[in-house]
Amino acid sequence: MLILISDAFDPGLPGKLQKYGEVTDDKGRLADAEVVLVRSKTKVTREYIDSAPHLKMVIRGGVGLDNVDLEYAKEKGIIVHNTAAASSIAVGELAFAMMIAMPNHLSRADVSMHEGKWLKKELKRTELYGKTLGVLGMGRIGTEIGKRAKAFGMKVLAYDPFIKSSEIAEMKTDLKELLGASDYVSLNMPLTDDTRGMINKDTLTLCKDGAYMINTGRGKCVIEEDVANALKGGRLAGYATDVWYSDPPESSPLMDAPNVLMAPHIGASTRENLLRIGEIIDQLLGEYVRKQ
Ligand code: NAD
Repeated sequence: MLILISDAFDPGLPGKLQKYGEVTDDKGRLADAEVVLVRSKTKVTREYIDSAPHLKMVIRGGVGLDNVDLEYAKEKGIIVHNTAAASSIAVGELAFAMMIAMPNHLSRADVSMHEGKWLKKELKRTELYGKTLGVLGMGRIGTEIGKRAKAFGMKVLAYDPFIKSSEIAEMKTDLKELLGASDYVSLNMPLTDDTRGMINKDTLTLCKDGAYMINTGRGKCVIEEDVANALKGGRLAGYATDVWYSDPPESSPLMDAPNVLMAPHIGASTRENLLRIGEIIDQLLGEYVRKQ
């Protein structure tokens, strides 16, 4: 069996998987691969699948499966797994770090000090304590963020059409009500036909004046142009994002907008998470081999 590691994983992973067969990171050998391991960079499209006649299993190290053509994989009898539970803490911590960084102007404070400036009077901070966080998508990651917000003395609301109750958040069935009440809005839903462009000029007008938004879900859940305008007009006080229309973004109106905190899709990239992902892949391959 040939296992193709197509994206970046823990460096110890190839050694761990050798017991199942030959392991390669040579993408030129896709045509011979039985198992392909991807994160978000490799796009497992119809064309990709057609160039892999021996492919039996795709494992996506991470959560979102929007880079895999699930329908075509099913048609071809290819098993697709993700490692859904592994990344929640890693992404939750990044979202929370962004949520702390924005009202404390950490990025500007650091850059200005490096430039020899002393902005003690200009950098007015605000606290998370006593504020309201609205989570869109109260799944695994949304729940981790909610737990951390509670520990900081925040009130937590959530909107999720598929979750009726939560021990962490007060569930709201009306998006308008949630956005109108939230000082911070965290986007943690998957990219689907329903969530694509969900944050747009209409939904942004429902937000509190001066709200902060944090996106560690998917770039295309927002219309970037509308977010940039909301930042310029002051409707949003800040937008922190780890996710983009493409990795890396080719061009984005967010690059020139004020108060944007940007990260290069590193939500899942903690050392601990890559080890957790490796352990789950090892288990999945073990089960696959036992069934052969
Ligand atoms: P999850 O499936 O546990 O949670 C997603 C939640 O979104 C679910 O509860 C679902 O019911 C809800 N949802 C679906 N449609 C919705 C809608 N229209 N409105 C509101 N909520 C809706 O998944 P998770 O592990 O929490 O991950 C969430 C997303 O985070 C992933 O789909 C992925 O896109 C993204 N993610 C990003 C990174 C990163 O590196 N930044 C890493 C992992 C995951």
